Amino acid sequence: MPDKIRYYSTMGKAPEVEFAEALFQGQPPDGGLYMPTRIPKMDPSEIEELKGQPYRDVARAVLWKFLCDEMPEQELDRITSEAYNFEVPIERVHDRRHIIRLDQGPTASFKDFAARFMARTMQFYQRSEDSERIILVATSGDTGSAIANAFWGVDGFRVVVLYPKHEVSERQARQMNTLGKNVVAVACETKFDQLQANAIRAFEDPDLAKLRLTSANSINWCRLMPQIGYHFYAYTALEPEKGEPIVDAVSSGNFGNVTADFITLRMGKPVQRILVATNENDEFPGFMETGIYRPIHPSKACISNAMNVGNPSNMRRLFDLYGGQIDRQGMLHKMPNLDALRRDAVGMTVSDALTHITIQSVYEQYGVLLEPHGAVSWAALHRYCSLREEEPLSIATETAHPGKFPEALQAIGVEPDLPESMKGLDEKKQDFFELSEDYGEFKEFMFRLA
Ligand SMILES: *Cc1c(COP(=O)(O)O)cnc(C)c1O
Repeated sequence: MPDKIRYYSTMGKAPEVEFAEALFQGQPPDGGLYMPTRIPKMDPSEIEELKGQPYRDVARAVLWKFLCDEMPEQELDRITSEAYNFEVPIERVHDRRHIIRLDQGPTASFKDFAARFMARTMQFYQRSEDSERIILVATSGDTGSAIANAFWGVDGFRVVVLYPKHEVSERQARQMNTLGKNVVAVACETKFDQLQANAIRAFEDPDLAKLRLTSANSINWCRLMPQIGYHFYAYTALEPEKGEPIVDAVSSGNFGNVTADFITLRMGKPVQRILVATNENDEFPGFMETGIYRPIHPSKACISNAMNVGNPSNMRRLFDLYGGQIDRQGMLHKMPNLDALRRDAVGMTVSDALTHITIQSVYEQYGVLLEPHGAVSWAALHRYCSLREEEPLSIATETAHPGKFPEALQAIGVEPDLPESMKGLDEKKQDFFELSEDYGEFKEFMFRLA
């Protein structure tokens, strides 16, 4: 039997913890992020067996590798069946180029994959005699609604969701501020990066300890882990030849999405290249090119707004995977193995202009409707594959439903249908608080809430 997986801090100055502690604590006290002490392998025959299998079976098999010492198998089976009660369509766009639509969950973004799994996992550990926990989440748009929806009406949990007032679309805001019940929405007069800094400070603030704050941002390992499921499925569902490598283009903001894909590579998924696709917040592509890491501050407001992150939290995990170390301010302490990173991945920046053109041309040429985040990874895929002599098997993540971004699609004269789950949203009553970027004010607010 291999060792039980425990979780260590990427900064190396906090004790290792068990899964449940990493789950509720969110982040270690030393400013690092939790990583598994061992990345389990899927051997080629196991991957073969998963080819053509439905989503929840693939997700269960892959996640079982991480959770086999944590819960009974039928519990994981229940969690995956309940969490993944929606379709995960894969469309061929042309040649061997595909998109995976991760937008069929209740809040119409891929964040549902992690949020729904995490809520059910926390429920599994939360006992009825435990006092209420507050899930605090800072969001650039989609995390907040996914988490709020996943915990909505769940006993023992309250959700406080902070969003940047001017950086989320009208519909994204409505998905958070029309829920009510145990969900408290807060519109803030600042940028996502500042909100995230406030949230992180709150988790570490001893004055707030009695609120039992729990993080649901992708700094939490349990937000990242479930995403390993769809990156595996993107491969097994295409049923490649045994061992045939794939090219994955991954829309990247806070880097949870793409770090999960790097983990599938470590687990044994055959990958030719991971294309790390960013918008104009291009600190990572810049690093890949020059070896110098420079957070973008302040972050740029691009149309793929959920990717407007100038100092991605999960860079700590990604660098750790390659033997490097970076702190949460984006200061490099130890250089990752850049050669290895360059063998596995390519960083690609996609401008807003190219994002617009991509949405338009993919629609005109192939009748396929993309939204801005998916267009970023598609543009990266297109650039990469067009330069190859042999067309590789490839897939790009379409991370949200086009109906969430009607503003961005006006230019091509298409009014996308709303996903079923969002119908009626425009008529619902909104209810939210307003705060500035000031931490003191935010703290006051949290006290009043308690
Ligand atoms: C969050 C988000 C992203 C970026 O994912 P990260 O895990 O933060 O890199 C991309 N697209 C959409 C629609 C998102 O909501």
